[in-house]
Amino acid sequence: LQWNITLAWGYQTGAGRHPDRAAIVDDDGVLTYRQVHERTDRLAHAFRAKERIGLLCRNHRGFIETLTACTKVGADAVLLNTGLSKTQLAQVAQDQEIDRFVADREFADALPDLPVVFSDELESLILNGPTTSLPRRPPRGRLIILTSGTTGTPKGARRPEPASLAPAAALLSRIPLRHGDVISITSPLFHAWGLAAFQLGLVLGATLVLRRKFDPTQTLKDAEKCTAMFVVPVMLQRMLETPHRPKLRIIASSGSSLPPRVATRTLEEFGPVLYNLYGSTEVSWASIATPEEMLADPGTAGQPPLGTRLAIVDDQGKPVAPGETGRIFVGNEMLFDGYTNGTSKESLNGLMSTGDLGYLKDGLLFVAGRDDEMIISGGENVYPREVEDLLSTLDGVTEVAVIGVPDDEFGQRLVAFVVGEETLTAEHIREHVKANLARFSVPRDVFFLDELPRNAAGKVLKRQLREQG
Ligand code: ATP
Repeated sequence: LQWNITLAWGYQTGAGRHPDRAAIVDDDGVLTYRQVHERTDRLAHAFRAKERIGLLCRNHRGFIETLTACTKVGADAVLLNTGLSKTQLAQVAQDQEIDRFVADREFADALPDLPVVFSDELESLILNGPTTSLPRRPPRGRLIILTSGTTGTPKGARRPEPASLAPAAALLSRIPLRHGDVISITSPLFHAWGLAAFQLGLVLGATLVLRRKFDPTQTLKDAEKCTAMFVVPVMLQRMLETPHRPKLRIIASSGSSLPPRVATRTLEEFGPVLYNLYGSTEVSWASIATPEEMLADPGTAGQPPLGTRLAIVDDQGKPVAPGETGRIFVGNEMLFDGYTNGTSKESLNGLMSTGDLGYLKDGLLFVAGRDDEMIISGGENVYPREVEDLLSTLDGVTEVAVIGVPDDEFGQRLVAFVVGEETLTAEHIREHVKANLARFSVPRDVFFLDELPRNAAGKVLKRQLREQG
C-alpha cells in the first residue's frame, strides 16, 4: 500500500465516511476517525518536508499519529525496533541520516545525541497546534522499515510504492477481513507485519486496538470486543498458556515460523480461524495458509496470494522437483526497492530471493528455514526447523531452538536450547529425535534455559545462542 496515501487520505476519507467510528483504541482511550484526522492535521505542523524522523515507540496512538502527520507534510519516517541497544541506535541513526526522534520516554537513555520529541509531549503539540491548512500536495516522504537484524545490524529496507491496491487485494484474497472489523494488533507497529496490519485496517475502515505492552490476559480480554487479532507466533503461544478463549473470526500470525503444535492447539481451542502468513520485509507476502490448509497439515505456509508467484530453485537457479527442498523466490508488486546501503536481495527472472529454503507438496508451501541457518553436519544437510518442530511436540517442552556450531570432526554439530519442565533431560531429548529423524539430526548438546532470547518482534536471536553454544 502506498503508505502516504493510505495514511493521510485513509483518515481523511474515514473522517468523511464514518467520522464517529472508533479508529484507535489504546491504553489512553478511544479516538474516532474524525479525531485522528483533525489531530494529525495539527500535529503535522510540528514536522517539516524531507525531515527524517526516527520513530521509537511502542504500540499507541502517538506512533500512528506521528506517522500520519509525517505523511501530511512529506517528512521521511524510519521505524525503529524498540529492542535496539544504544550502540545499534547510534549506528542506525547515522546510517539512516535521522534528523530527529519521536520516542517514548522509557527509551531516553538509549537515544543518540539528536533532537527528540517525547511521545508524552505530542498531546500538547496537538492541542496547541495551528489549524492553518497544510500543503495540498506535500512532497512524497519515504518510509524506511528495518529488518529484524537477526543476522547482524538491522538493514534499512525502502518500501515500494505500488500504484494499486494490489497488496490489500493479495491479503484479502486469502483472509476474509471485512469493512469495519475490530482488529487487535499485538505485533509491534515498527515491524513490517504490524505496519501492514495497521495499513490494511485503515483501508478497511477498521477499529485498531493497541496496547503499549503485550500481556496475554489483557489481549484476550480485549479480543472479546474484537473480530480479528494479528499476532506473532510467540504471543499466540503465550496466550495459549492462559485459559480465556474469546470468539474471533480471524487470528492472523506472521513474522516468524508458526510451530505446528501452536497451530494445532489454536485451531482446536479457538476454532478454524487461524491464518499463517509467510513473508519478509523485503518480499512482503509470499504465501498464506488458511485454517483448512493447516487442519490438513499444521506445518504449512499455504499458497501464494493473488498476484504472487513462487519458485523453488536449486543453487543453479533451476526449478526443483515437487517435494524437493530448494531456495524460495517470490515475485509480486510489493518487492522492496533495495536496502538503504545500496545493496539488494538476489533476483532471478523478476523474482526475489527470500533467503529461505522450502519445498512444495500438493501445491502447498513448507518453509524449512533460513538458507544461512541450514546446518551441514558430517556432509548431511540438517534443517533446524525440522528438529525444532519435532521437539516442540514433546511433552513438557515449551520452546526450542536448534543451531549449528563449528565442530572439528563433523564441520558443524547440532546444539538444542530447550525451555520446559524441569523433569526433561538431555538424554530424553536426544532419544526423541533419534526415534523420529535421521541420526545426523540428533543434537549433540542440549542446554536448558528459562527463556529463549528474542527480539522485540518475538523472533529468536540465534546469533546470541551461537555465542552461548
Ligand atoms: P534480518 O534480515 O535483519 O536478519 P529478518 O530476515 O529476520 O531480519 P524479517 O523480514 O522480519 O527480518 O523476517 C522474515 C523472515 O522470517 C523470513 O525470511 C522467514 O525466515 C521468517 N518467517 C516469517 N514468517 C514466517 C512464516 N509464517 N513461516 C516461516 N518463516 C517465517
